[in-house]
Amino acid sequence: MSDSKNRNVGFIGAGRMATALAAGLISSGFTSADHVSASDTYEAARDSFTRETGAQAVESNLTVVEQSEIIVLSVKPQHVAEVLEEIKETLTDQQLLVSIAAGCPLSLFVEKLGKTKRLIRVMPNTPCLVKQGASAFARGGQASETDASLVESLLSTVGTAVEVPEAQLDAVTGLSGSGPAYIYQIIEALSDGGVRMGLPRHIATQLAAQTVKGAAEMVLETGEHPGALKDAVTSPGGTTIAGIHALEAGGLRNSLINAVSAATNRSIELG
Ligand code: NAD
Repeated sequence: MSDSKNRNVGFIGAGRMATALAAGLISSGFTSADHVSASDTYEAARDSFTRETGAQAVESNLTVVEQSEIIVLSVKPQHVAEVLEEIKETLTDQQLLVSIAAGCPLSLFVEKLGKTKRLIRVMPNTPCLVKQGASAFARGGQASETDASLVESLLSTVGTAVEVPEAQLDAVTGLSGSGPAYIYQIIEALSDGGVRMGLPRHIATQLAAQTVKGAAEMVLETGEHPGALKDAVTSPGGTTIAGIHALEAGGLRNSLINAVSAATNRSIELG
């Protein structure tokens, strides 16, 4: 494999996720724009990919496979089977295939590609689009420790990434995959609370979103247990404990645990 600054990375499907990942790995120096390419059947997607990343976009999926060491399969799940059929004769054991298609198990790739290849399945989430993603990935086939750390550094250009056994990817889907929507609802509701108490909407939403972001940074940067951070801002008889009491009465924590369980179970059903 070539040195890390010059890895050839190709994307099959030049949509939103591929564009965000390509932009992340170019701006972070993981590789340079002239070593990144993408293919897409849709001309507008190719144009947009090139405009946003400075990298080449072509029509032929096989061209991307031929010129890449790492191939990121970034089409929608319903197009995965046809793409695998198309590339299987061209793909070699020397290449690493990374799939970000939601709900497509590693066994599908082994089945469609005929023999075991170097495969990694990723579950990213939408905040990858703003370089704040929470991704998890699972190794399959002959993917090595080195392949796993390569994918971890690739995903780290758009957020954080952890390796899990494939069986845990449904729970990842229920937590970080679907999680941004839970948090949007929390932000919207906090904002509603602010408006209810007399704040202008734009100020309430800005304060709500920044409060969520700030609290998340506190957890990530201090490494403290979230409960300890909560205790540290909860003075006896004060305002915060009054708010927390109301949240407990409304079942906030129970609702969030149920949300992760329901989405995980739905992911299992769909898989
Ligand atoms: P998207 O629709 O923006 O991009 C997919 C692209 O694939 C489109 O531009 C389409 O023209 C192209 N395409 C379709 N058939 C093709 C073919 N045969 N050959 C080449 N290109 C083809 O989708 P996206 O949001 O970027 O999602 C890409 C993948 O990432 C999906 O599989 C999705 O499940 C996964 N994913 C996305 C998110 C997210 O937050 N967007 C989160 C988790 C997983």
